[in-house]
Amino acid sequence: MNPTPRQLDFSHDETRRSWVASANTPQNDFPIQNLPFAMFRRTGSAEPFRPGVAIGDQIVDLLPACAAGALAAGVAASLDGCRQGALNDFMALGRAARVALRHALSEGLGEGSSLESVLQATLVPQASAEYAVPCRIGDYTDFYTGIHHATAVGKLFRPDEPLLPNYKWVPIGYHGRASSIGVSGQSFARPKGQTKGPNETIPQLRPSHRLDYELELGVFIGQGNALGNSIALDDAENHAFGLVLLNDWSARDVQAWEYQPLGPFLAKNFASTISPWIVTMEALAPFRSPFARLEGDPRPLPYLEGAANRERGSIDVSLEVLIQTQAMREAGLPPECLSQSSYRDAYWTVAQMITHHTVNGCNLQAGDLLGSGTQSGAQPDQAGSLLELTAGGKKGLTLANGEMRTFLEDGDAVTLRGHCARSGFRRIGFGDCTGQVLPARA
Ligand code: MN
Repeated sequence: MNPTPRQLDFSHDETRRSWVASANTPQNDFPIQNLPFAMFRRTGSAEPFRPGVAIGDQIVDLLPACAAGALAAGVAASLDGCRQGALNDFMALGRAARVALRHALSEGLGEGSSLESVLQATLVPQASAEYAVPCRIGDYTDFYTGIHHATAVGKLFRPDEPLLPNYKWVPIGYHGRASSIGVSGQSFARPKGQTKGPNETIPQLRPSHRLDYELELGVFIGQGNALGNSIALDDAENHAFGLVLLNDWSARDVQAWEYQPLGPFLAKNFASTISPWIVTMEALAPFRSPFARLEGDPRPLPYLEGAANRERGSIDVSLEVLIQTQAMREAGLPPECLSQSSYRDAYWTVAQMITHHTVNGCNLQAGDLLGSGTQSGAQPDQAGSLLELTAGGKKGLTLANGEMRTFLEDGDAVTLRGHCARSGFRRIGFGDCTGQVLPARA
């Protein structure tokens, strides 16, 4: 069976332009080839959150567009379940409904469309919108597919054996917490927790002083699987809805004290921030890359191995982390880049995460979120966390304005960005994923 989410069609054509002029500017994240989904409303209004699709610097307000007859009846009906502020019912319909809507919008938003005036009336500027988490996230699982991250962090704790023996066989993950996932713009108080310094004999409860970010992608599940059934690798991407940026904020001092023997707990579940726009698997189709294993690495077990996954299993998303400190904000300075990496380097693919997660019969549901794990590049300056960039807090980073950082300070805002670019295709982007650290509660 050939997985279809990687197929190209007219909606990927580089020469397609929109009558929304901002969508045609080269560096805009949301050209007509992207068409990502969010739940939005006008900023500060009491309007219900509702589904929208980004085009340039605008949002197509989908329910009014349906009401105005801009979409064929069958396509409009696929959005009926999204009137209660969440995309889950649409996500659960799977790929065919998503592609039908993508094609309808690609045509309606295209230059010369007869639907221009009716769709124009539904546009809301992104500058006057606010966002909600796009769906009810029933369960959140965070994987650990960044092998450079796993190696660098492992080295800090186990110089002789940085990668544990299971890493190249099992897509490692843990069950995280969904209730504290917020959307870009999220701010949170510095978490308190049990920590024990190297020279202390007993732990104390206090605000974390080794607060970190993690540069990750999140995979939203579309169609789920019944409890007891597994999803085969060749079918796995049919169960993926799309990707967001994910900042898995981490309290390293809490983590170091609590993580053995059952893994991350309170070090991770105080906040996680995602970007508002879900970039669909269809939009990512032009940016697929081969999935390869280094010479000498074990081949994945047969259930995690397949021709389609080998040929096109990876996704080439360029990633970036930026910081804006309180002092930078007050001085009017823009966020400063801390590092860059690519999702292409992940050791396990989206399909392998889905298949592994369900191999024991675990049921995924529409709206579930799978984190990729921190995506660091091979070079030290491509690290996706401060833990790595500062060698476990031993080596301070100097910012352009002279400030030093080992871990995050109160007032720091961290922004993740991602985009895909390939010759012969329009560049698409993910928008910003920003979160801010506030002082600990008294
Ligand atoms: Mn993580």
